[in-house]
Amino acid sequence: MRVPYARQSISEDDISAVVEILKGEYLTQGPAVERFEESVANYCGAPFAIAMNSATSALHLACLALDLGPNDILWTSAITFVASANCGVYCGAKVDFVDIDLVTHNISLSALEEKFRNAEQQGCLPAVLIVVHFSGEPAELEPIKKLADRYGCRVIEDASHAIGARYKGAAIGSCWHSDITVFSFHPVKVITTGEGGMALTRDPALAQRMRLLRSHGITRSEAEFEGPTDGPWYYEQIMLGYNYRMTDIAAALGSQQLLRIDKFIDARHRLAANYDQALAALPLTRPHRNAGARSSLHLYVIRVGEDDNRRAVFEFLRASGVMVNVHYIPVYRHPFYKSMGYSPGSFPAAEKYYASAISLPMYAALSDNEQQLVIDAVGKALS
Ligand SMILES: *Cc1c(COP(=O)(O)O)cnc(C)c1O
Repeated sequence: MRVPYARQSISEDDISAVVEILKGEYLTQGPAVERFEESVANYCGAPFAIAMNSATSALHLACLALDLGPNDILWTSAITFVASANCGVYCGAKVDFVDIDLVTHNISLSALEEKFRNAEQQGCLPAVLIVVHFSGEPAELEPIKKLADRYGCRVIEDASHAIGARYKGAAIGSCWHSDITVFSFHPVKVITTGEGGMALTRDPALAQRMRLLRSHGITRSEAEFEGPTDGPWYYEQIMLGYNYRMTDIAAALGSQQLLRIDKFIDARHRLAANYDQALAALPLTRPHRNAGARSSLHLYVIRVGEDDNRRAVFEFLRASGVMVNVHYIPVYRHPFYKSMGYSPGSFPAAEKYYASAISLPMYAALSDNEQQLVIDAVGKALS
């Protein structure tokens, strides 16, 4: 048996919904995309949702909508997928990282506070902070937003792990503590569209800019034209945009998946409770879950003894058919970023985390037998 670390759950209804689109009129962005946007906006309690072909695209357009440019600085968590940082580089901005909290694995509030204070003194405050809800565990949005406001910094939530998560009684995606929230629908995430992403916001102007940027910067709305219309065929390109559209095929799958999201997350919580109990006596750190929030449990990350020991445990698990993974290599350690001069010494918690983290298999369709295989293998690896 071979147990992957993540896997999509596709039902017959999901398949029928996609087949219906294939028999219909629209394949690229059409009414199914609009329906999916409306469903996600309703689910999260945000007024505007803009579907795109990936979360990476959504992060890029979120930065552009906030006017991030070549003289600006973007900060994000040291432990995240590279896309949380790359979006800043796409805009020509300088990227820097904030160390993590070793309990939550989210951005450290005290490190962030100190970094803001130093940046103010040195005159290099960031224009945008990208907060990552790592593993689906909501970051401390309220104090983070307060800090960012004090220093005039806009906030984007990279909620690629966190659709379905809740913070202080509101869904992640409601954008009460950020300018824009971004979701990913990659197959390893909580719900999938194959490839896909979405940006949510409460700000109609940001929503409109992201809609324009998603499709070449072209508008067909006469209210937005700069010149007079030439006739019924007329449209105008009023800014430089991209083709980041989602297809109706993908959106139909997304809408079907969204119907089951709470079931998926309940299943993840049941599996996490099993892991918590079965691994309690072993020499490892289990993931923290904040009592005041509901994690979407995209990942279940354990931490084992550092360095060589982690590698031995990882290799033993892989050899046992448990396809564990490491999320993530600290972004500043990648050659592309290393060449910009970051020093691992600046991020002691991220280094410590990276030396010890292993992501165990976690997905709604993980069977009891498969989970038992994982639990037995972890037990053997650590005995
Ligand atoms: C998956 C992921 C992304 C990118 O998502 P795509 O939809 O694959 O572009 C960005 N940030 C984080 C934290 C992710 O996990």
